[in-house]
Amino acid sequence: MEKETCALCGQPVEIEGFTETDADGIKKFCCAGCLSIFQLLNEISETTTIKNTITNNEEIP
Ligand SMILES: [Zn+2]
Repeated sequence: MEKETCALCGQPVEIEGFTETDADGIKKFCCAGCLSIFQLLNEISETTTIKNTITNNEEIP
C-alpha cells in the first residue's frame, strides 16, 4: 500500500490529520511543523501578491 508523502518535505505521512486545502486541492503533511511552515509560506505569497498589485496601481501614470 502506497503512503502519502508530505507536500513540504516529501517524507511519508505516518499520521493522518495534518492537511491543508489550497487552490490546487488538499495537501497532506507529515507533522504540524510542516503544516505551519506551508501555511506561513502561503500567507507570505498572498501578502506579496497584494503588495505588488498596490505598487502596480501606484505606478500607473
Ligand atoms: Zn514534512
